[in-house]
Amino acid sequence: MKNILKNIKGTKDISAEESYIWQYIENYIHNFFDSFGYSEVRTPTFENTELFVRSIGGDTDIVSKEMYSWIDQGNNTLTLRPEFTASVVRYFIQNQLHKINPSHKIYYIGSSFRRERPQKGRLREFRQFGIEAFGSKNPEQDAEIISMAYNFYKNLDISNLKLELNSIGSKESRIEYRKVLKSFLEKFKTDLSEVSQKRLESNPLRILDTKIDFEKDIIKDAPKIIDYLSKNDQKSFSATLDLLDSIKIPYTINNYLVRGLDYYSQTVFEIQSDLLGAQSALCGGGRYDYLVEELGGEPTPAIGFAAGIERLILAIENNNRIAKKNPDIYIISIDESSHKYSFAVENSLRRNKKLKIISDKLRRTMKSQMKDANRLMAKNVIIIGEEEMNSGQLTLKDMNTGDQQKLTLDNIVDHFK
Ligand code: AMP
Repeated sequence: MKNILKNIKGTKDISAEESYIWQYIENYIHNFFDSFGYSEVRTPTFENTELFVRSIGGDTDIVSKEMYSWIDQGNNTLTLRPEFTASVVRYFIQNQLHKINPSHKIYYIGSSFRRERPQKGRLREFRQFGIEAFGSKNPEQDAEIISMAYNFYKNLDISNLKLELNSIGSKESRIEYRKVLKSFLEKFKTDLSEVSQKRLESNPLRILDTKIDFEKDIIKDAPKIIDYLSKNDQKSFSATLDLLDSIKIPYTINNYLVRGLDYYSQTVFEIQSDLLGAQSALCGGGRYDYLVEELGGEPTPAIGFAAGIERLILAIENNNRIAKKNPDIYIISIDESSHKYSFAVENSLRRNKKLKIISDKLRRTMKSQMKDANRLMAKNVIIIGEEEMNSGQLTLKDMNTGDQQKLTLDNIVDHFK
């Protein structure tokens, strides 16, 4: 029998002890993207399965074995989103956004679902954020997206960032390259894995993305797509690099970076950090100039990236620099008669909305309330007992210095202004 008191493998509770880090990151995401004029869009968690099959591609790992799909009571085939781009493009087309404005800049945050083998930094429900820019095919747009991704992590002081870039060209450039690559790989066909042998027919470029060591050895000598780019593709890629150079964004070109999803074209990129171990990719993205049209919209160039929050937090934890806000005041009531008075004192102090105030509701002894205040790292305690109630002089103790003073409630309110 299933243990219903255990969360599903590959999912994770975000605990009370760590949620402050998530809130910090979420606030940072909103502020960072807003400062570039990107607006948040929230799409539903599930969509028609066909949307993901057609955009991500039938022979990708995601679509062929990782999607959570089901048929509902109305006989609709539905899928929990394995990523956001397909949903955002669906939203763009459905609302005919191209008619409203030639440029649309969108960001998102939420859960994605993939039935992968769980391990550190790899879950079955994970939280992603990302951005999509619709309308511009210009290198300034590529450079904006790539530099945003890089600076997003840099501003959080994540060390050892590695930005890799490649261009996989337009459809036209890829026709010739596909042929050359296929005939190169055919020489090693029997050495390739079963999956790659299939991909040799359906999509040989995907083999460049292999994680298998002996295939990586073969690929080292494979022809490079960069040598088959059309003049236009070359021009656009080098203009993007030029812009990145001009603002000193460090990158390396990885000729074999193709990314796992089918919809990419031209610029693709990934950011990694070796703080993460095996699952080192913090974020990945690229251009997808054909996807809007392929899904039935007006031809619209677009570029974006997606990133995982769990991995970002793993990287941040290794740097350990986000501090939880400690209570400003812990109110200690010494005896039964002081609880009502303390309740009113707390209410008066709460008019200052910036204060974090905690009070005991267990009617514990003074000693154990003091212990609790220490555990929570309260900066101050206010002690209220019969004597304090009668004299109107409350004891304020600074937990850092140990200094104690007797103050009226008005004095205390002023003290925290
Ligand atoms: P992808 O769409 O596969 O390029 O993923 C974009 C980003 O999402 C990755 O760079 C990771 O940070 C994150 N990500 C992807 N899959 C997972 C997963 N199963 N668990 C946690 N994070 C993931």
